[in-house]
Amino acid sequence: MKPNIAIIGAGLAGLTLARELADHANITLFEKARGLGGRMATRRRDRHRWDHGAQFFTARSRAFKTLLRPFIDNGTVVEWRPNITTLSPRQPPYKRPWFEPHYVATPGMNGLLKAMSPGLNIALQTRVDTLKQEAGKWRLFDDQRAELGEFDWVISSAPLPQTEVLLPLAADTYAGFGMRPCYALMLTVNDGDLPAWDAAQVNDSPLRWIAFNHRLPGRDRNFGAVVAHSTADWADAHLEDHQEQVKHTLTEQFCTLTGVSPNAVQDAQLHRWRYAQANAVENDPEGYVLDAERKLAACGDWCLGGRVEAAFTSAHRLAAQLIRQGL
Ligand SMILES: Cc1cc2nc3c(=O)[nH]c(=O)nc-3n(C[C@H](O)[C@H](O)[C@H](O)COP(=O)(O)OP(=O)(O)OC[C@H]3O[C@@H](n4cnc5c(N)ncnc54)[C@H](O)[C@@H]3O)c2cc1C
Repeated sequence: MKPNIAIIGAGLAGLTLARELADHANITLFEKARGLGGRMATRRRDRHRWDHGAQFFTARSRAFKTLLRPFIDNGTVVEWRPNITTLSPRQPPYKRPWFEPHYVATPGMNGLLKAMSPGLNIALQTRVDTLKQEAGKWRLFDDQRAELGEFDWVISSAPLPQTEVLLPLAADTYAGFGMRPCYALMLTVNDGDLPAWDAAQVNDSPLRWIAFNHRLPGRDRNFGAVVAHSTADWADAHLEDHQEQVKHTLTEQFCTLTGVSPNAVQDAQLHRWRYAQANAVENDPEGYVLDAERKLAACGDWCLGGRVEAAFTSAHRLAAQLIRQGL
């Protein structure tokens, strides 16, 4: 009989793991959000769209390229070739081309995850809160104390601080891993009021990245949508500040850096990512956490130093190991 596996989190890592284990186990994915995406997130308001988490990704390994191939062929994933610049408050802008393909999903970054999800058993709006081990099985409960089922294995693909709380693993399991915050500012600005470049790497500022999101492939240029990300240091220092003040400060920074008139900003929204980007990891780690005896495991970008491809690789390596050991 196939084992029952609960996977916590339906971001790229959770979905990759579920797809790769589908022939070997009965899988249930639990996702606390209303939709799929995790940090490959897209916010919509009317016809405006902001990709306020990951803005693009690269694909270096053969395995990740193999996953992407059919989605590139059907237009879900498209190469992005922006006119990219570098901005700093003290220097004139200069062009900084990319030297490897950068990809985006369409019509929003969460489009890739939606395309990966058919056939999977996913419980949305379900936050796993507690695990209890009884008679060799794991019983899961949500935040209302309702039972979610009985499983042989529990695997978390949630960001590190959430995984640490959920999985009863030895404290030193998580040594060497860490995650940092980021603010995402989402502005509504008509395309005609914006500079000619499409995206900017920013130096010496609370902001580190600006993109005119509506100019990404597969978006509608008529609905001007700007995404600006803060540095991790700035987010750390202002994490508990009044959110209206944070929004105001970052909008001012945006206008100063780009020369866009504050009057051209029709609307501003802010998202605080408490766990945005994983710290770099050292010494070529395995890329996942596994306690085979207790049948607990974790994967996700934080196991390999962050970014979209790391989330895929972590789940891909964990799936291979679980299949190798016969689950
Ligand atoms: C602002 C920002 C900018 C970024 N920019 C880039 C970029 O340009 N390029 C790049 O490659 N990467 C970028 N990244 C990183 C990239 O988004 C991540 O590496 C990748 O999406 C992580 O995928 P994951 O599956 O490991 O985790 P996640 O996408 O975080 O998925 C984990 C899921 O677990 C769910 N969850 C958590 N706790 C529970 C629970 N208790 N019960 C149920 N569900 C739960 C969450 O809701 C989430 O959906 C960026 C991230 C952020 C936030």
